[in-house]
Amino acid sequence: MQKRKLNKKRFFTVLLVLIITVLIVGLALNRDRLGLVKESPSPAPTDSNISEPPGQTNEPAQTASPEPVEDPEETKAPKDPRDNLVIRTDYEAFGPNESGEIPIVMFHSLIEAYEENTEKEYTTTFAEFEALLQTLYDSGFRLISMSDYIECNISVPAGTMPMVFTFDDGTAGQFNLIEENGELKVNPKSAAGILMAFNEKHPDFGQHAMFYVNMDKGDKTFEGAGTLKERFEILLAQGFELGNHTWGHVKYSEPVNNFSDKIQESLGKNQEKAYEILPDLEFYSLALPYGHVPVNDDLKVFLEKGSYNGVEYENKSIMAVGANPAPASISKNYNNGYVARIRAQGRVAVECDLTWWLPKMTQTRMFVSDGDPDTIVVPSDKAGNILEERLNGKTLVTY
Ligand SMILES: [Zn+2]
Repeated sequence: MQKRKLNKKRFFTVLLVLIITVLIVGLALNRDRLGLVKESPSPAPTDSNISEPPGQTNEPAQTASPEPVEDPEETKAPKDPRDNLVIRTDYEAFGPNESGEIPIVMFHSLIEAYEENTEKEYTTTFAEFEALLQTLYDSGFRLISMSDYIECNISVPAGTMPMVFTFDDGTAGQFNLIEENGELKVNPKSAAGILMAFNEKHPDFGQHAMFYVNMDKGDKTFEGAGTLKERFEILLAQGFELGNHTWGHVKYSEPVNNFSDKIQESLGKNQEKAYEILPDLEFYSLALPYGHVPVNDDLKVFLEKGSYNGVEYENKSIMAVGANPAPASISKNYNNGYVARIRAQGRVAVECDLTWWLPKMTQTRMFVSDGDPDTIVVPSDKAGNILEERLNGKTLVTY
């Protein structure tokens, strides 16, 4: 009897210990599910889940600390582009060449969908434009402004290639405003709207574009909601630029009497009317209508500088229509009086359009940045391409 009682007691003790053990183990296994432990460090990034500009080697994998400290940079107010600089000095490893060429892309009309009679070579759909942005981004291109192109102030991540977007004629598909709840906003169904949305996903792509306008078109420019003043203000507030495309879309190859006066009128009057809309809106770049220049070379000086009705103008870069990537402004091959552009592909692909050029714009011929706008880095055999008087305080580095 005594022995049985003892065994029974032992049995219950063992059972109790077992139950307690199971409870403890179960609780431990469920701790993370119950939210009782902090999240363990996430695995180091692998090649497959980070995207990097071409030519960039991987940073050594960081060991994540279990208590992630907030990056003070993250909370800093935006957004001086220099805050995001990715500078590299291991030149041999990724081959920067800041004497290379820069593509300046030219767009005209953007529409929702092609119709039977849609013009074939200068029209792009919104969907094609959006797909193009991804292609350019994946190919390692990053947007810069026209003013930074002119000054060769290139702030794109090391290993990427700068590119300039230009839009001629001020069509609504490029940029227009819509009214939503009593407020004006950029139409997401416009090139500018699509570019802004793309930059939210890929802030290092760059939100830059130059829009060349004809002031004689009045309210037809960027037609949509808002006044012309409001359209210009909102466009500029987004970091975009406005340039001169002449009063009257003048064909400079057609000779007329007093042509020097006509040229100055076409440029000075366009500037005068721009000042009437926004007193600070100074055009500093011209896109030649049809890409034409006066037959008489002596007249070309008036494309660059002149005055009309007491209003002076100066175009620091004058853009052609075709058909190549442009030299960097720091290059000996640069001619600010006739800067090449590449037309975006229209409804039909043609020779020398952007689609034709893309596979040919390799890192061996293009401008590949070191990420630092204050240095001009070139392979030693290309140092002769740089015009040193244009360095303008920048340091020339050869390797
Ligand atoms: Zn035009």
